[in-house]
Amino acid sequence: MVIVKDIDFYSLCEHHLLPFFGKCHVAYIPSTKVIGLSKIPRIVDVFSRRLQVQERLTNQIADTIRDKITPLGVAVVMEATHLCMSMRGVEKQNSFAVTSAMAGAFRDNARTRMEFLELIKLHSAIPGFPSTSAAGLACVGED
Ligand SMILES: [Zn+2]
Repeated sequence: MVIVKDIDFYSLCEHHLLPFFGKCHVAYIPSTKVIGLSKIPRIVDVFSRRLQVQERLTNQIADTIRDKITPLGVAVVMEATHLCMSMRGVEKQNSFAVTSAMAGAFRDNARTRMEFLELIKLHSAIPGFPSTSAAGLACVGED
């Protein structure tokens, strides 16, 4: 398992044009091809620089890695603070949102998924992780 964790990212929510930012953790299990470790933060950067919602950003990073190297599995977790939530007066603890995209071995194999989650030691303690239960509160897929 190849893991790059604590990748800083800064993005702008497309609903309120306000920043959300935090850490991105990426893991993959190579099959035949590998991807340079320095390229992963670059992929995160490319998609962060657009107007985004956190869920889509998470999925785009996972999809790009999957398309580039067809790994046995890919996992992306993003933890972010959303200024649009803080400013709307949503309780502070809820201005933090965690999203995840899991494919291949990370989706099918609970042990692989747990190993990844253990290795990245999430900074957050969102109940119900890895669901996107914060979605209703954050700029993650709201209309
Ligand atoms: Zn927003």
